[in-house]
Amino acid sequence: MRVSSTSGEKIRLENDGELLLYFIGTGSAFTKTLSQNNLLIVKGNDHVLVDCGTKCSQSLHKVDLPLSEIENFLITHSHADHIGGLEEAQLHGRYISHRKLNMVINEEYQNILWNQSLRGGSEMSESRPLGFEDFWNPIRPVLNKFCPRETWEANVGSINLKLPRTKHYPDNAQSWQDSFWSVGVIIDDRILFTSDTRFDPELLLSFDDMFNFEVIFHDCQLFTAGVHSSLDELKQLPLYLRKKIVLMHYGDNWRDYKQEALDAGFHSWAKAKHEYTFRVACRAIDSRVKA
Ligand SMILES: [Zn+2]
Ligand SMILES: [Zn+2]
Repeated sequence: MRVSSTSGEKIRLENDGELLLYFIGTGSAFTKTLSQNNLLIVKGNDHVLVDCGTKCSQSLHKVDLPLSEIENFLITHSHADHIGGLEEAQLHGRYISHRKLNMVINEEYQNILWNQSLRGGSEMSESRPLGFEDFWNPIRPVLNKFCPRETWEANVGSINLKLPRTKHYPDNAQSWQDSFWSVGVIIDDRILFTSDTRFDPELLLSFDDMFNFEVIFHDCQLFTAGVHSSLDELKQLPLYLRKKIVLMHYGDNWRDYKQEALDAGFHSWAKAKHEYTFRVACRAIDSRVKA
């Protein structure tokens, strides 16, 4: 993994085929100095935006990438720092750029997202009631039967996405099974992006055992309570996992904990306006070298 600053330059939605992750922001839902923890994935001519919060459009504008250029979306759950920008995207798509956008979404979450969130601002825009599919082309993921828990899988061009259910909210849920809809994202079987989740060692242990991730981008709250994983909880993980974890979705005061996390063996803190680049087929080369 190579990490490089983009120095605020325009982010391009295509490259020479390397898998590239770009954090539009790394902040929590309540941050005032950071942008929200939304992620752009680019690989060759393909791209997908993972989550589109209330500040997403403005944050993209600052790096000269209009939200309207994003064609493919994936939403991990319905908190506003992950979906608050979708109304702008769907109204712009229908009335300004005159095209439907694509969203990786199964029928269960489509019903939740439309009926509980997006419908209010868009349904009655015309003489007939509109529905989700007037604005969006759903890319339907299928259940992957081989994963340790319910996991949905889809491809956006050459980008493979696996979506394991996660344990985010409510805070008294015992497991992902009795949590409301939320998913993490496994990208090309190489990277785990947890999105928002409570401390859930079983997610990390079981999926890392299956995929041996190169890196894990993990939710990190700076105190222990509520519906997120705290730094103190994450310190309980075995060192081999801590070494893979890049901390994200943190509060404004993260610098107060910066050294503490590095001393505990975590890989790093996620950086906005930086590109995380993963070489093409480096795994195949690694395995040949080992053999
Ligand atoms: Zn969040
Ligand atoms: Zn959340």
